[in-house]
Amino acid sequence: MSNAQDKDKAAAPVNVKLLLIGNSSVGKSSLLLRFSDEQWLPEDESSATIGVDFRVHKMDVKGKKVKLSIWDTAGQERFRTITSSYYRGAQGIILVYDVANRESFDALPKWFAELETYVSSAVVKIIVGNKVDKEYSRQVPVSEGQAFATRMNALFVEASAKTAVGVQEAFRDVVERIIDTPELWQSAGARKSRSGGAGAGAGGQDMPGSIDLRQEPEEAEGGGCGC
Ligand code: GDP
Repeated sequence: MSNAQDKDKAAAPVNVKLLLIGNSSVGKSSLLLRFSDEQWLPEDESSATIGVDFRVHKMDVKGKKVKLSIWDTAGQERFRTITSSYYRGAQGIILVYDVANRESFDALPKWFAELETYVSSAVVKIIVGNKVDKEYSRQVPVSEGQAFATRMNALFVEASAKTAVGVQEAFRDVVERIIDTPELWQSAGARKSRSGGAGAGAGGQDMPGSIDLRQEPEEAEGGGCGC
C-alpha cells in the first residue's frame, strides 16, 4: 500500500503559486503573456494595462513536474486595493519595475513592506527590471537593481517582455529556488488538503474571477471581472 502511495506522490505535480506585483504599467501582464503564451501585444494594441489575471503553466524543474499558477494583479494596484487574499498561499513573488522609470523602482520598498504584512519571510522573491529593451531611456542602472535585490535577499534579473530576453530565466529562477525550499511547497500541499482544495490558487483550480476584490469570493463565481 505504501508503495502505491509513493508512486502517487512521485507522479503528482508540485503546485506552485506565483504572484506578480509592482506599480501599474511596469509590464506585469506583458511578462505573464510572454512567459505563458509566448505572446507580445504591440504597444499600440495594448491599453495602458493589459490586465491578464491568471495563467496555469506546467514545467519540469530539477526533475519535478511543477504546475504553476501565476496571478497578475489585473490592475488592482491602480486603486490600492490588492487584498490579503491575493497573497494567500503564494510561494513566490515576482516584483516588477521598469528600468526606464525610476519611480517604479523607488516604489519597491513599499511593495516589500506590503509583503511583510501578508507573506512569510520564507517565500521566494525575485526582482525583475523589465523593459530592458529601452536601454536608451534607462533610469535605473543594473548595478543598483542588483544591489537592492541583494539587500532584500531577493533574486534579480533584468528582462524584456517585448524581446523576451530574461523572461524564461526570471520564472525559472524563482521556481528553482522554491523547489530548493521543500517546506514551501510541502506545507502548501498540506494546507490544500486541510482546506479541501479550496485554497487561493495553488491548486490551479481557481478562475480569474475569484480574485477577491470584495472579500466575498462567492460573489465572483461567474468569473466576471469586478474591476
Ligand atoms: P502592467 O500594468 O504592469 O500589467 O503593465 P502592462 O503589461 O499592461 O504593460 C504596460 C505597457 O508597457 C504596455 O503598453 C506594454 O506594451 C508596455 N510594455 C510591457 N513590457 C514591455 C517591455 O518589456 N518593453 C517595452 N518597450 N514595453 C513594454
